[in-house]
Amino acid sequence: MANSWRRERWDSLRLLTPNWQTRLPGLRYEGPDPDGYMSMTEVAEFIELFAKVSRVPVRTGVNVTSVRGDGGGYRVTTSDGEIACRAVVIASGACNRPSVPALSQAVPSVVEQLTPFDYRGPGQLPDGGVLVVGASATGVQLAAEIRRSGRPVILSTGEHVRLPRVYRDRDVLWWMDASGVWDQRYDEVDDLTRARRLPSPQLVGTPERMTLDLNALSALGVELVGRLAMVRDGRALFSGGLRNVFSLADLKMNRLLDTFDEWALTSGRDDEFGAPERPAPTAAPASPRLQADLGSGEIGAVVWATGFRPDYGWLDVPVIDGKGQLRHEGGMVDAPGLYALGLPVLRRRRSTFISGIEDDARAVTGHLAGYLTAA
Ligand SMILES: Cc1cc2nc3c(=O)[nH]c(=O)nc-3n(C[C@H](O)[C@H](O)[C@H](O)COP(=O)(O)OP(=O)(O)OC[C@H]3O[C@@H](n4cnc5c(N)ncnc54)[C@H](O)[C@@H]3O)c2cc1C
Repeated sequence: MANSWRRERWDSLRLLTPNWQTRLPGLRYEGPDPDGYMSMTEVAEFIELFAKVSRVPVRTGVNVTSVRGDGGGYRVTTSDGEIACRAVVIASGACNRPSVPALSQAVPSVVEQLTPFDYRGPGQLPDGGVLVVGASATGVQLAAEIRRSGRPVILSTGEHVRLPRVYRDRDVLWWMDASGVWDQRYDEVDDLTRARRLPSPQLVGTPERMTLDLNALSALGVELVGRLAMVRDGRALFSGGLRNVFSLADLKMNRLLDTFDEWALTSGRDDEFGAPERPAPTAAPASPRLQADLGSGEIGAVVWATGFRPDYGWLDVPVIDGKGQLRHEGGMVDAPGLYALGLPVLRRRRSTFISGIEDDARAVTGHLAGYLTAA
């Protein structure tokens, strides 16, 4: 896990989750700033410390190139030899590759294209404006950083999850935790496929605990446009209906805040917090532009903040669905002796985050131990 935090993230990134929420089985943050947000170096150090205190025999720098069925078990081929085993836990992550839409191929070659895996900071960008596609956690953070470096930024915005950083004096993720929203089980979620594909929330971890929603980006001078629908004849074409997209995100955010308020009342803790409040609705530009000429020189780079996907190219077992996702039931993969951990909403909503691993690992290893005993 430390590998992805060290090599696949941009320089300014900090966790969205407050330090006190960054915990692994038997290890929690004990530093001086429990409400702060870890930098990528700190995350990597935290994971290294976990490897040390848990005394797990870690083999670093070893790549798994194939896992295939072998009799009643599996044969794992690695860059450092072969391993025969009866069970395998797949913990290779959900974000191994940037997910870039096919329409990127129609972007004129004069425009540089970057993914969050390539991007380190605004200094590496060519001259000119920047089109950031995608307004979830990655997109809003990169749009803000690039805009602050003095460049014109257009942010193309599809469906998104809006959240205030702080609600009634507490971090919004404190509310997720305390109110039980994150405890919802995968088999209680109405539309599990959708929940697993939900975009990350528009959040950033900064010492000031700033809210980085679309209103904050407009105030910084970022130009908001609709979803990138097509690139034709060198022009990026954006969907209309921005106002509807914004209203939907506002509505969902307000519903979630209602849930928090209800929990505060029913748990008898309402007096502990400031008064309920609702952020101002997201303001849509009067007439958002519907296209941008990518060949005119106005835009020097496109940053694809369009999500990530897992890479199971090394898994030679037929357990991948048509969308490239692992077929599993709460971490029990659709093949005897194969298990998964570390995927979004694996067993609970909390599974999407680092702190979700503890309960998930207990359930999955419990099943695994039973499998090995029975086999
Ligand atoms: C940009 C970003 C920001 C995030 N922010 C937060 C946050 O603020 N708070 C939070 O709680 N969670 C956050 N998450 C989610 C968090 O990353 C996951 O919950 C967590 O990383 C899952 O850990 P993992 O070890 O299962 O997977 P990963 O961290 O993805 O680690 C998987 C590891 O497997 C390795 N691997 C993959 N394939 C192979 C192979 N074939 N052979 C050998 N090794 C392989 C990878 O190199 C990597 O080291 C964020 C995720 C992303 C992408």
